[in-house]
Amino acid sequence: SKGAAMVTAVAYRLAAQRKQIDAVLAPFLLSLDTLREVKNKMRAELEYGLKRETQASATVKMLPTYVCGTPDGTESGKFLALDLGGTNFRVLLVKIRSGRRRSVQMYNKIFAIPLEIMQGTGEELFDHIVQCIADFLEYMGIKGARLPLGFTFSFPCRQASIDKGTLVGWTKGFKATDCEGEDVVDMLREAIRRRNFDLDIVAVVNDTVGTMMTCGYEDPNCEIGLIAGTGSNVCYMEDMKNIEIVEGNEGKMCINTEWGGFGDNGCIDNIRTKYDKQVDEGSLNAGKQRYEKMTSGMYLGEIVRQILIDLTKQGLLFRGQISESLRKRGIFETKFLSQIESDRLALLQVRRILQQLGLDSTCEDSIIVKEVCGAVSRRAAQLCGAGLAAIVEKKRENRGVEHLQITVGVDGTLYKLHPHFSRVLQETVRELAPQCDVTFMLSEDGSGKGAALITAVAKRLHNIGRK
Ligand code: BGC
Ligand code: MG
Repeated sequence: SKGAAMVTAVAYRLAAQRKQIDAVLAPFLLSLDTLREVKNKMRAELEYGLKRETQASATVKMLPTYVCGTPDGTESGKFLALDLGGTNFRVLLVKIRSGRRRSVQMYNKIFAIPLEIMQGTGEELFDHIVQCIADFLEYMGIKGARLPLGFTFSFPCRQASIDKGTLVGWTKGFKATDCEGEDVVDMLREAIRRRNFDLDIVAVVNDTVGTMMTCGYEDPNCEIGLIAGTGSNVCYMEDMKNIEIVEGNEGKMCINTEWGGFGDNGCIDNIRTKYDKQVDEGSLNAGKQRYEKMTSGMYLGEIVRQILIDLTKQGLLFRGQISESLRKRGIFETKFLSQIESDRLALLQVRRILQQLGLDSTCEDSIIVKEVCGAVSRRAAQLCGAGLAAIVEKKRENRGVEHLQITVGVDGTLYKLHPHFSRVLQETVRELAPQCDVTFMLSEDGSGKGAALITAVAKRLHNIGRK
């Protein structure tokens, strides 16, 4: 009959559609063997970054941080902290109490950094930062107090001491001119001088290091810091004898791996999809931070958007119409991806979120969008887990133990907000590093608190800053 023929036609169309969607998402499904290969490659890159002859050209930079120990509870005092490079720019006042009633109290204020300042001149950027500090001191009623300051600067910096850091290159959404190759502490000091006030900058700290230190304050077994947020990065305590470019063989030093650059030599091109390449090409730093672009919040939404555009072009979505909104870069922020993938959300609500983003969807569309988001974020978590497995395995071999127990301090919007990312990440680490028993510890405001703790330790140990 005619009815039966129509049903068959619809079923046939759906099956064909299914095949096309599966084909688009297939390269996002990584086998355990592939993930193992990623872990092994990451492990090799970590070694290149540590060795004198190979470190200059290494894509995983393995930057020494001059942070050599975790806090011991004797730190105390009032500190200022700056947090630049995450989702928000903040200025903080941190009060640390030592002794039996040790505690950390914090007050902070979030300031916006307008796009034209993120991508303007370096001088404008640092003037803006100092303006925000001045506003904060005024707001807190402590104008004129010369407090020691820790600067959490979440970009790759080459350090020769704890209070010096040369910016290797901007990442994420930043591109201010005349900063690369410059010491960011000097730039901050000069901007402070331009406003005729005085601050005592003691430490420049990567956010991963701040996160590790904050968790280390509670758990001495925490020797790794992970950020899975706007950007992606890891730091860990490495034996001095393995850090060839730093003098001395005793003790340990924290290494900021800058693993986001993993793959910049093409070593993971076999798993990069055409969508990853499109996202890279449309970014501010094409060709750089390839692993970060597959694993962090700033880019996952962009990968999703590229896939949705392709599916639409193939006539599989949005009635084949590419809307203005879908053309807009950056519409799928981490918070939207997180909402779309929440299992508690009914499809109708998914459609409502898409509506908010300016995307008119049918029920079928919303199912497909959710599926795309799931494939992209799952791959991100697995890749991040493969990287972390390489780090914990290295720690295990350093210690020369059969079985390692270790804590990883974690922060970042993707890890904290996404409904599945943290679980998939942990499962992957467990699978790929079975001899390591890894505890994940959420850091409560690692960037701010950590910078203050490092500043406190630096002040105690070296009495640096006052100059
Ligand atoms: C930066 C790292 C930072 C990470 C997380 C990356 O883009 O290069 O220094 O730790 O983002 O914020
Ligand atoms: Mg942060």
